[in-house]
Amino acid sequence: MVVQVSRMTPAAEFVRLEDPASGLDGVIVIHSTVRGPGAGGCRFWPYPDLAAAGADAFRLAEGMSYKNAMAGLPFGGAKAVLRRPAGDFDREALFRAFGRAVAELGGSYVTAEDVGTTVSDMHSIAAETRHVAGLAAEGGRAGGDPSPWTAQGVFDAMEAGAAHAFGSSLRGLTVAVQGTGNVGGELCRRLADAGADLVIADVNPERRDRLEKILGAHVVDVADIHRVEADIFAPCALGGALTPESVAAMKAKLVCGGANNQLASPEVADLMLARGIAYVPDYVANAGGIISVSAEYLGENRAHVVARVAQIGPRVAALLEAAARDRRSPALVADRLAERLIGGVDRIAA
Ligand code: NAD
Repeated sequence: MVVQVSRMTPAAEFVRLEDPASGLDGVIVIHSTVRGPGAGGCRFWPYPDLAAAGADAFRLAEGMSYKNAMAGLPFGGAKAVLRRPAGDFDREALFRAFGRAVAELGGSYVTAEDVGTTVSDMHSIAAETRHVAGLAAEGGRAGGDPSPWTAQGVFDAMEAGAAHAFGSSLRGLTVAVQGTGNVGGELCRRLADAGADLVIADVNPERRDRLEKILGAHVVDVADIHRVEADIFAPCALGGALTPESVAAMKAKLVCGGANNQLASPEVADLMLARGIAYVPDYVANAGGIISVSAEYLGENRAHVVARVAQIGPRVAALLEAAARDRRSPALVADRLAERLIGGVDRIAA
């Protein structure tokens, strides 16, 4: 096993992980530890090479610094990105090797689920280190799959966004959901309960078709989801959904979803502002999962998670109002606020 730590920027550390015996191959980026240990999930995906995995890890870790600060959590930002091996591999051995690497970092990185990892993987990691969350919940303790909490926060953020953009609730609005996985699927269920109409797309037909059947959602091709007739666009797949092209074609007047790193580049936020599309910054909307994970790591209860997730809606309302007042993009307003918070340690609210 090789665990090699190098510095990327004055604050950020790049940790190379390599264990040929188990197939572990990836990186951990610890972006900031000013507010506390770097916390962020572990992504397991077939990246073509290490450079692609490293670049994604840096952007995701940076996003976690902003997200954790904005949610008032005593954690810095970090992320692990592991390359999924082609062909057969021993999944438990791979995640145990990853757990040993996390243990070597002595608590400067706390891991949890992300795209491609499961509660069962977290249990494999926990056999090697205590710096892991997202384990099965016990009693009234915080814990378990963070996705439903993420979906709840995105739903609350969307309700606040709809009140801002349309002066209405979500009832009768059409929401185009890109990606119907753990977060997107849970979000769709909440939206259907709230009386919204759903248009969905997913590269995985199984996940998509199940929701079509249960919720009566209208299925479209993945190439069209951003430009369908809808009031709201909800990116819930991988990052980079918001490009100059997708924004130019968009009919929705509100963008709010669970995916990380939705903006392909920062200028896209200005394009949305110019087109009168209200944007709820991804890391403000999708903090529910890390709120659950961090409460679990700190040994807190479910009630703490409920209280902190409930702050997402009001936070979004205040942010959209401030951005509209200053005629600036909500992304820029959120970034400036988060950067101020990353500069100093705040106490957890609630
Ligand atoms: P997931 O893997 O369960 O779901 C992602 C879904 O998107 C899958 O069904 C996949 O088939 C689909 N997909 C991939 N590419 C697509 C494309 N081009 N068009 C349409 N669908 C596509 O992952 P998840 O846990 O639901 O996470 C979704 C997003 O939310 C990710 O960006 C993740 O980083 C972010 N996020 C997740 C959590 C969480 O708690 N799970 C928390 C914060 C942020």
